[in-house]
Amino acid sequence: MHETWLGPLRPPRGAPRDASLAAEARVTEHPLSARAAPRPAGRRRLQRPELNYVGRRPERAAADLLSALGANLDHEQLRETPRRMIDAYAELLTQQPFRATTFPNDDGYDELVLVRAIPFHSLCMHHMLPFHGTAHIGYLPGERIVGLSKLARVVEQFARDLQLQERLTTQIAGWVQEHLKPKGVGVVLEAEHLCMSLQGVQKFGATTVTSALHGLIRDDPRTRQEFLALTTRSGT
Ligand SMILES: [Zn+2]
Repeated sequence: MHETWLGPLRPPRGAPRDASLAAEARVTEHPLSARAAPRPAGRRRLQRPELNYVGRRPERAAADLLSALGANLDHEQLRETPRRMIDAYAELLTQQPFRATTFPNDDGYDELVLVRAIPFHSLCMHHMLPFHGTAHIGYLPGERIVGLSKLARVVEQFARDLQLQERLTTQIAGWVQEHLKPKGVGVVLEAEHLCMSLQGVQKFGATTVTSALHGLIRDDPRTRQEFLALTTRSGT
């Protein structure tokens, strides 16, 4: 499910909503995008040096881990597993560059803009197991607005990392604050962590909710109430 809400009011006519208006907008690049080098055709490797093992190929490290777990790597079904593991982690951890074009808020739209239920998945940095759920991002426009689909790309960008849900929430809110200079920003993430569902206490279906509220979405009771009512309604 991917819903987009625009708060209680429709956006003002003429509010820039598509790429055709990008020429008159200031182009901002996501600060992390430079870290994600293009993936060479036909060959996938972890793109991030800090995740590579010094002097050893990643497949060799994956094979060592499987051996340590008692796997017989001569088994036909396991022979290609180290490569598949690295391919999978490469995909989960490689950030895709994108242009986050922002636009001047010429029409002075000043009601809450909210994108609800953006699906995401990430890898828990404590257990290397996935956590997945939905993100809700709202902001009270100030000087600039952004194409709504770009907020989903921001979530995707930060989620492709070894993450903590709290950190992911803070990073998304920080990006909106930095790039849009809004009067307020609110981010709520709801996620199920497989490290919690599959091991230890095994609480299947339990979700963890984190939030980051800044500016008027934190300080103005009416705006805060509106934001929280829209992000915590039943059925999400
Ligand atoms: Zn975990």
